[in-house]
Amino acid sequence: MSDSTARHEAKPARNLTLQGIAGSPGIAIGQAYLVEHEDVDVVEKRFIEAKNVRAEVKRFKQAVKKAQKQLQSVIDEVPKEFRDHIYILDVHMMLLKDKMLYNGAIQNIEHESLNAEWALKMVLDEVKSIFKKMPDPYFRERASDVVHASKMILDNLLGTGPPDISGIDKRVIIVAHDLSPAETTQIQLEKVKAFLTDRGGQTSHTGIIARSLEIPAILGLGNAKQHIKTNDLLIVDGSAGIVIVDPDEETLTRYQERKDLFEEYQARITRSSHLPAETTDKFRLSVMANIGLLEEVVSVIDHGGDGIGLYRTEFHYVNRPTLPSEQELFDNYRDVAEIMAPHMVTVRTLDIGGDKFASGLQLAEEMNPALGLRAIRFGLQSPEIFKTQLRAILRAANLGNVRIMFPMISQVEELVEAKQMLEEAAESLAKDRIPFKSDIKVGAMIEVPSAVVMADILAKEVDFFSIGTNDLIQYSMAIDRGNKQVAHLYQPLQPAVLRMIKRVVEAAKEAGIQVYMCGEMAGDPMNLPVLLGLGLDALSMNPISIPRLKSTVRMLSLNDSRLFLQEALKQPTVADVIKLVEGTYGPSFPKNDFYQPSQD
Ligand code: PEP
Ligand code: MG
Repeated sequence: MSDSTARHEAKPARNLTLQGIAGSPGIAIGQAYLVEHEDVDVVEKRFIEAKNVRAEVKRFKQAVKKAQKQLQSVIDEVPKEFRDHIYILDVHMMLLKDKMLYNGAIQNIEHESLNAEWALKMVLDEVKSIFKKMPDPYFRERASDVVHASKMILDNLLGTGPPDISGIDKRVIIVAHDLSPAETTQIQLEKVKAFLTDRGGQTSHTGIIARSLEIPAILGLGNAKQHIKTNDLLIVDGSAGIVIVDPDEETLTRYQERKDLFEEYQARITRSSHLPAETTDKFRLSVMANIGLLEEVVSVIDHGGDGIGLYRTEFHYVNRPTLPSEQELFDNYRDVAEIMAPHMVTVRTLDIGGDKFASGLQLAEEMNPALGLRAIRFGLQSPEIFKTQLRAILRAANLGNVRIMFPMISQVEELVEAKQMLEEAAESLAKDRIPFKSDIKVGAMIEVPSAVVMADILAKEVDFFSIGTNDLIQYSMAIDRGNKQVAHLYQPLQPAVLRMIKRVVEAAKEAGIQVYMCGEMAGDPMNLPVLLGLGLDALSMNPISIPRLKSTVRMLSLNDSRLFLQEALKQPTVADVIKLVEGTYGPSFPKNDFYQPSQD
């Protein structure tokens, strides 16, 4: 065992276990390093005398200006390995100048005679409460960007300065209340064994960055900083979301063995992740990635993705007072396409609406947002916003291998109308003499039961289908995908779901178009025999799931999978299907648990 993992003689083992959210897989053993930070929530409220209000506004403006300069110098000095993440820092730079934050705080100083710190906190509380109500965790967590930007201002107001994390001189496990992307980029990566944060979830930037850099991370620990001090010995199990503080010798040895096993396993599957996913009887499955941010593209390449089967484009529309320009969208789509070239990038048009919040869009509150003005419905009702995005995609397609996909199609009229708008977007580009791809491939997401039933008709309108099981399960089983109370019903191997997929695949084959799956179901190896048997051409998933999925494909035969499917389709319940999978492929057949090596 290395010196950093050696137990401290004087300290008794506490063996204290803390449970958080598994943010990035892997096991780390090492000493804690606490990143101290002023908390926006503990600032004091003071009233300012009328004659001092102007000076207080000036103090606030100077703090913002200083924060902009500090952030600019972080951006200027971002190390090479973080270049792909500058984009997040740009978002923070924009937030520093954001009207809601900046003008809102100034208004609170001027109208309520409040001190700048409290004025800022008031705006922040408001922003946080808006974000908290959003059902989608990805959007909920974008509130952390506003918090990070505000903290930079607050540090300057309080004169505390940002925490010093650039000078860490040994390999440690970083423990923080929250880490802003600006802070993460200042840490020398080779010094980080793992990240632990009290805040955040799987879709927070710390999680995304940790996963793309393959550093174990646990997020949303709540109060880790109360239990952990700098230099405490920690075990971090990023796959299970568990931290053990001051472990005893026996626990240490056990985890050291698991760490070795995990690393061996990961090295093995990563070595082979760039090989094609070919079954034993030579069927080649295309294994693609789902992404929501430009910076995830590197992770797709590192994990051997055969392309991008789903680029969720919502990020550009949230957390900002204005809508993105065509140029901004084009730059982003072009970057993704260029990095992925010659592989395919499937850009899905905006899937926003209901109460998926976007500050530049004035959306009405809805009683039942999942059944409301979402996705393609929103696009068709907002032709300006929709066509701006279509133009950007058409332009990017001219410079890379890009195709377009429409979300949540529920009737053929929507496809016809969306294609008409695409045509109009193309005509307007031609008129403006801006180069674009005129024969772009067009696809439809099949994620609503009516689209399954009408798949044969829809297939005539498009070049490909992508089955979105996250929504298809939600809508066909009538279960809210974010509601924990009914989560037990959310089962991809439901016989009803399997029959729907079968129908979609058959309609696609009949029409001679490609059909693949991009819902979470696709990334779980446990579902692979059924999916292969169903005849899907490709699967698209979270980038980190790719190596294991590919290695599982190599263990299976297409022919056996087809036979297996026949049996699976005879099963009346989901439990029977799962029993059949385990009975046929053994209980240790890989399941979706962040590719944890099997313990037996
Ligand atoms: C789906 O519904 O399966 C899907 C991939 O889309 P999203 O999760 O973005 O709704
Ligand atoms: Mg969906």
